[in-house]
Amino acid sequence: MSSSPVMAGEEVSNTFKYQVDRFADVEILRYKVSGFEDLSLDQKKLVYYLSEAAHAGRDILFDQNCRWNLTVRRTLEAIYKNYSGDKNGAEFIALTEYLKEVWYNNGIHQDYSSDKLKPRFSQEFFVSQVNKLSEKQLHLDKEQTKEGLLKKIVPVIFDPAVLPKRANQAEGEDLLKTSANNYYAGVTQAEAEDFYNKLKDSNDPNPVSFGLNSRLVKENGLILEKIWKVGGLYSPAIEKIIYWLNKALPFAESAQQKAVIEKLISYYKSGSLKEFDEYAILWLKDLNSDIDFVNGFTESYGDPLGLKASWEAIVNFKNREATKRTESISDNAQWFEDHSPIDARFKKETVKGVTAKVITVAALGGDCYPSTPIGINLPNSNWIRRDHGSKSVTIENITEAYDKASQGNGFLEEFVWDDENRERIKKYGFQADNLHTDLHECLGHGSGKLLPGVDPDALKAYGSPMEEARADLFALYYIADPKTVELGLLPDAEAYKAEYYRYVMNGILTQLIRVQPGKNIEQAHMRNRALIGRWLLEKGADDKVIELKQRDGKTFVVINDFRKMRELIGKLLAEVQRIKSEGDYVAARQMIEAYAVKVNPELHKEILSRYEKLNIAPFKGFVNPVLTPVKNDQGEITDIQVSYDEGYVEQMLRYSKEYSTLPNIND
Ligand code: ZN
Repeated sequence: MSSSPVMAGEEVSNTFKYQVDRFADVEILRYKVSGFEDLSLDQKKLVYYLSEAAHAGRDILFDQNCRWNLTVRRTLEAIYKNYSGDKNGAEFIALTEYLKEVWYNNGIHQDYSSDKLKPRFSQEFFVSQVNKLSEKQLHLDKEQTKEGLLKKIVPVIFDPAVLPKRANQAEGEDLLKTSANNYYAGVTQAEAEDFYNKLKDSNDPNPVSFGLNSRLVKENGLILEKIWKVGGLYSPAIEKIIYWLNKALPFAESAQQKAVIEKLISYYKSGSLKEFDEYAILWLKDLNSDIDFVNGFTESYGDPLGLKASWEAIVNFKNREATKRTESISDNAQWFEDHSPIDARFKKETVKGVTAKVITVAALGGDCYPSTPIGINLPNSNWIRRDHGSKSVTIENITEAYDKASQGNGFLEEFVWDDENRERIKKYGFQADNLHTDLHECLGHGSGKLLPGVDPDALKAYGSPMEEARADLFALYYIADPKTVELGLLPDAEAYKAEYYRYVMNGILTQLIRVQPGKNIEQAHMRNRALIGRWLLEKGADDKVIELKQRDGKTFVVINDFRKMRELIGKLLAEVQRIKSEGDYVAARQMIEAYAVKVNPELHKEILSRYEKLNIAPFKGFVNPVLTPVKNDQGEITDIQVSYDEGYVEQMLRYSKEYSTLPNIND
């Protein structure tokens, strides 16, 4: 599970140049890898080889997101690179912008809304440019022709009715038939659910995550899984990943870490989900290494059924100083669990192995790039979490980049009700927000338990937003607890109010900037934040705990009673935990549909117009630093250099060239 940032900030100049590029509603930043120079040479090599493994899987995600993504990306790149016309012409500028969006979203659908991107260049322009290119320039697969290519991808790009949504979550429709992602082919939702229900054995205390690493297809009337592994689907990309993991192996920091990497390689070869679980357990128990990584089919947010995992990768090392903060949280994990406001039946008697650290990322890949989470808690398997715990991280050089890039932007001036709250956010915001992420990741997701026999997937498409709500509510509940001040996590009893204000302002008002007019809220984290904000607003109405107030035709959140707000948060946490623990699908659906999906069009319009005036990009992404081996005369690596001068377009084109591992079509 992962968390994404709450706030959309803005730009400010600094000695380190955080801003890289700006297009559509996206701003690209860079992050700083402080402390890299203090690593040993072996550690640097380990980071380097793991980062190559992180980039090697890039094509997988494009293909997972939609069957046509690689073809579209490569066609656009070919036009971009070979274009000889006027580069200041409107058509070329619009095509470039669309290509930047395709890179940003790892495909032709917007990551957040799941809606297909809208090209602002003409079909005629596109076709004429394709016709100027040779089949070699277009990187066609053997069986593809230029005519065939155009026939297929022109509607894919230009016809709004073709593949309109990447992952459809609308009630009452066949979620698979209406989703453009490439996790299922030719099967109906009922067939897929039936297929996986039959595999499940409710008596198995250690069930594997069925469906996690495969595409479910129907061929010749037969439903079967095509596994993502060596010799299976995505084999050329996975072989490359393994190549780099093998390079990394000799530099593992310990026998334990070596075992982690070896197991991952073995799993990539076998595709066995049992082996994946073994790998996950080894990984979560490797606590002493400074260098750490994620590499694999991990999060299932992109699948409407919540089974199939997108490929992602992160390479990082421990921020020792900041990790003291998360260690003090995990040392007290049992205290937090025992004092949680949930029903005793749903509490863990013994919280196992909650480990948390603050990390510095050195490379982002797959579903963590260019848009990245700020915290990660893995593994996702319920029984592994129950029996072995989980590993949780806060990515502080990413939150730092967000914070630095958002100072002095006018956002708080526009959307916060008064000076008191504004000053509080300025004073405590960064610290409180980091603590929220720590609590969310290292305690929230790890807390509570399912009642015996409850299917972990019982909440289906509502599982992800409910799980995120549970983790957020846990964090919100405890950030206001005197314990956080006692443990030195916050400076005083005022600090949590900064997070409370910011959180509900975002959930009720400002996150709407990420939704297009007329659309519903789709993304799991956004649904969770809307749910919490709106539920609190409604339940706190009688006592005026929170209210919406108007001033000069503008809507603001006003919190009148922070203590009562915390009580309400405790109540909602108890209910969300009950729903999860009992697998109460009907209640989950009712709650999400009632609070977290629909958008008030008037309010939406107002927020969008206020935001537009600030000229801030609502979405952020990152380029990676460039890691370059320095070699001596014998060709041995003597150092790894970090540089920060690569632009967004340069990096994307380089990745498309150096890490082009898959054919256009992968069936
Ligand atoms: Zn989360």
